[in-house]
Formats: sequence, C-alpha cells, structure tokens
Amino acid sequence: MSESTCVFCKIIAGEIPALKVFEDDSTLAFVDIGPLAEGHLLVIPKEHYEVLQEMSPEAVAAVTRHLPRLGRAVMDAVSAEGYNVLQNNGRVSGQEVPHVHFHIIPRIASDGLGYRWNASKYEDGRDKEIQQRLIRALQA
Ligand code: 5GP
Ligand code: ZN
Repeated sequence: MSESTCVFCKIIAGEIPALKVFEDDSTLAFVDIGPLAEGHLLVIPKEHYEVLQEMSPEAVAAVTRHLPRLGRAVMDAVSAEGYNVLQNNGRVSGQEVPHVHFHIIPRIASDGLGYRWNASKYEDGRDKEIQQRLIRALQA
C-alpha cells in the first residue's frame, strides 16, 4: 500500500475524518474506530512507514516520547487500571493497516481481554544458539 491509498495517511491529510486527541509535527493520536475497550487510542507517525524497522531511531523516538502522557490520559479518561501498548509489524502479527501505529488499550481487571500466551521451553542449549544468532544479526 502506498501513501496515496493508506487510510492513516488520509487521516493525516484530513481526507477522511478521525477523532483526534493529540497532534504535533511528527505524531498524531486518535480514537480507534474499532476499540477493544472504550478509550482505545492509536498513535502514529505523520510520515508513512509500513513497519517499525523502516524507521530511524529518531523518528521512533519522536512518536514514542508521547506514550507515557497519552497512556496516563487514557487511564484518566476511562478510569482504567492499566493499559497495553501494542504495535504489530507484518500481516502475520495481526497488522491490518500498513502504516506504523501504536495501540494504547485501556485495561480493567474484569474486561475479559487477553492473549493466547502459549509460553514454551527451550531444549537444552537451544537458548544459547538463539542468543548467538541474535548477537550475529545485530552485528550485520
Ligand atoms: P492493526 O490490526 O493494523 O494493528 O490495527 C489497525 C487498527 O486501526 C484497528 O484497531 C482498526 O480498528 C483501526 N482502524 C482501521 N481503520 C481505521 C479508520 O479509518 N479510523 C480509525 N480511527 N481507526 C481505524
Ligand atoms: Zn500511511
């Protein structure tokens, strides 16, 4: 998807409406149209990047620096007890809109939201193999 067909770029350009709650030069935060809970926010860079790894550290910092304040506002606005920050990269991860976005999802104990967190265990030595692969990948 290119910038010209991207739904979030259209929101940034004012071509389709959105319930905006915060905006600066690099960042826009607005109400998710299909909330997992009331107050569910989306926080996006104003520049079009499909996935997080396309962004420079500075561009990521310019967006994520607002998360603590926005998280606090979400909690205050809907009396949440906590929140999840969720950021999907790639269709396999559940990303449906290919423009980087951070979800802020308010949580209360009785909300019934959750993950299939199917934690597994490494076979003997496999964790260290993976550690070495990761270290090599970081050097590339
Ligand atoms: P993803 O699955 O890509 O991580 O999340 C995309 C999110 O964008 C979904 O939660 C969906 O409800 C939201 N969304 C998709 N289209 C629009 C839209 O046009 N306006 C708003 N406000 N949210 C949208
Ligand atoms: Zn876009």
